[in-house]
This record gives sequence, structure tokens and C-alpha cells, in this order.
Amino acid sequence: MRKAMVAGNWKMNGSLVSNELLVNTILKGADKLLTDSVDVVLCPPNVYLSQICELLKNSSVMCGVQNISLHQSDGAHTGEVNARMMKEFGTKYVIVGHSERRANQFESDADVLSKIKHALQYQMIPIFCVGETLDQRESGRIEVVISDQVLSVLDGLTEKEASEIVVAYEPVWAIGTGLTASPDQAQEVHRYIRSLFSSRYGQELAEKVRILYGGSVNAANASDLFKMKDIDGGLVGGASLKADEFLGICRSS
Ligand code: PGA
Repeated sequence: MRKAMVAGNWKMNGSLVSNELLVNTILKGADKLLTDSVDVVLCPPNVYLSQICELLKNSSVMCGVQNISLHQSDGAHTGEVNARMMKEFGTKYVIVGHSERRANQFESDADVLSKIKHALQYQMIPIFCVGETLDQRESGRIEVVISDQVLSVLDGLTEKEASEIVVAYEPVWAIGTGLTASPDQAQEVHRYIRSLFSSRYGQELAEKVRILYGGSVNAANASDLFKMKDIDGGLVGGASLKADEFLGICRSS
């Protein structure tokens, strides 16, 4: 019922030359058969948006961005780029609340909620990231942390808005570390996130929300993760920079 999705988060990587090679190789493998069963999304750094959107034109692979400004209106915000500008390139998705931005740019739950609302106003689909640190996991606080993150956003959204977002569960300890949550560990948190949607908006809406797993996903571990009932695909960092790995992940979903 839920269409699978694999989004590549390139983070601060790429060059005009390497991007072209990577995207063209992905496009060769991402035929209609594949994209009919999985939404494939590439999220490059903003400076390459124009290049990537041009390369993806006439394909069924979609473009997303890694962040949008908290400031919705154009104006005196040096260095910022808002949702309206991203949308002009035809970008469809935006990653919001990634743990690297929560930690390094001090993004709060309130910031995350504002960005999600801005994105939705410009018909961009937020990929809303949540996840616990190792310390929080080991001290038995997973559910408290995840429910704080999820409900602080759900409480500010209308039912319609809540039905439009994609969630990514990314345990912080698994990001870029080579450590992946086991399929059972991930499934448990995905099921819990879905139950939070259900408690706010009912089972029917909850069953429609796509929940991606992120954290050291690769072509070798993807299919075991994606087999789990509440895991609808992946948000992929490092492995999204290698065409074969990324396509292997897309095929696993
Ligand atoms: P990783 O990153 O796949 O390199 O662990 C995932 C992410 O940060 O979204």
C-alpha cells in the first residue's frame, strides 16, 4: 500500500564532474520498472541544484534538498535559501531535522516544525528526521526521545499536513559509523513512530505514512531492513555517492 522510497543525502559532497557521472550512472539503472515501485530521490548540495535538476529532467528520479531556511520571506538573510527558491528548480523533497543539523546548527524541534510547514506551503514534501543518540538508547530513553521529537511536530500540524510528510528514523549512533540498527531494532522504533501517528490521527492515516530508515544503509544490509513491516525504504548518506551501492539499495526496496 505504501510506495517504497530511497533518498540519497549527498551531504557536503560532489563536484560538477563527479555529479554528472554519478547521476548519469544512476539514471541508466533507474528505469521505469524500478521507479514504478520505489520513489528515488537525490538530495545534492544547493549549489548543484540547477545541474542535478537539469540532469534529472525527463527521468522519473526526483530531486530534493538537504535543508531550507527558517526564514520564509525573501529579504535580509545572508547566506540563506528559502523553500520558494528551491521549488523554482522543481525540487520535490526536503530533508528536515537531520541530526547533523540538530547538533551542529542547533536546530530545535520548533525550528523543525517551522521548516516542515514552510516546505508544505510550497508543495515540497518534508523528510522529517528523528533518532536517538547511543547514550539515550543505552539509558533506556528511546521512546521518550522519539516521542518528544515526533509529537513536537505532530502537535503543530493539521491532520492533512501530517498525512503529507515522510519520516526518517535515523539513530544518531548509526549515521556514518558503519553500525546499523538490526532489522528488529529498527522495526521496533518504526512501529512506535507509526503508533504515535495512530494515537493522534487514527490508524488509517498512520498506515499511509512512509517511515524510512537511515544510518549506514548499504546494498548488503538494505533488503533485510526493508523487509520489515514498518520500514518503507531508506535515507542513505555515504552509500548514495556510489551509483552501484545506491542502485542496489533501490532494488532492495
Ligand atoms: P549514512 O548517513 O548512510 O552515511 O550513515 C545517513 C544520513 O545521515 O542520512
